[in-house]
Amino acid sequence: MPLHPRVYSTEAIVLRRTDFGEADRILTLFSPAYGKLRAIAKGSRRTTSRLAGHLEPFTRTQLLLAAGRELDIVTQAEGRERLDHLRDDVWHATGAWYVAELVDRFLEDADPHPRLYARFVHTLRLLDDGASAPATSRGWLALRHFELHLLDELGYRPALHTCAGCETPLRPEENGFSAELGGALCPACSRYAQRRMSLGAFKVLRLLQMTEWDAVPRLRLASGERNEVEGILQSVLRYHLDRELKSWAFLHAPGIEGA
Ligand SMILES: [Zn+2]
Repeated sequence: MPLHPRVYSTEAIVLRRTDFGEADRILTLFSPAYGKLRAIAKGSRRTTSRLAGHLEPFTRTQLLLAAGRELDIVTQAEGRERLDHLRDDVWHATGAWYVAELVDRFLEDADPHPRLYARFVHTLRLLDDGASAPATSRGWLALRHFELHLLDELGYRPALHTCAGCETPLRPEENGFSAELGGALCPACSRYAQRRMSLGAFKVLRLLQMTEWDAVPRLRLASGERNEVEGILQSVLRYHLDRELKSWAFLHAPGIEGA
């Protein structure tokens, strides 16, 4: 049974698009009410198309779709919010491509996650703002915040308060971490850990997991601590996806990192 009526209207953001045939595009969309969707936008590569310009990646668009046999068909599109830095500037777009890839890889089709959608839009707006571009500390924190809350939303919240091995409350000290076991490990269980977790990294991860973005303080992390936090989160993402993400290579390209 289809999840949606034969003709339906929804807001959505293009996560990914692929050229198809002579002038069509196949779109992977993220919408608040229907989750991830795939649809075809016929003729949308022609400059004369009424759809052209409304289906750019990271544009918040209002769509009218019709159920098709294999793919739904975009019949109308009207851009509501253009995030111009993300569209026009590679440096700003890198973080956006990354969060879009995360959503695309983690979500099944037609599995709605309206709260994650709201977070996704919020993160795109942060990255669009020059002050939070990916290479700044604020932008870096926004990406880690999104990763932790995506994991939370999908039921993969890493344990950061009690030991993932023996469930004793964790203390502010050096602990261990294991993505396979589901989170942080107390010193006694740390022999099962894949990696160590310094007190600094532990505090940052807990803070980001427990705090809504507007209350996250302006932290400045040393590069060693950044690498550690990033490494821990990547180990969790990689464990659940069982694969590497393409954008990881771009995020660490020279000139993108470390500003
Ligand atoms: Zn333990």
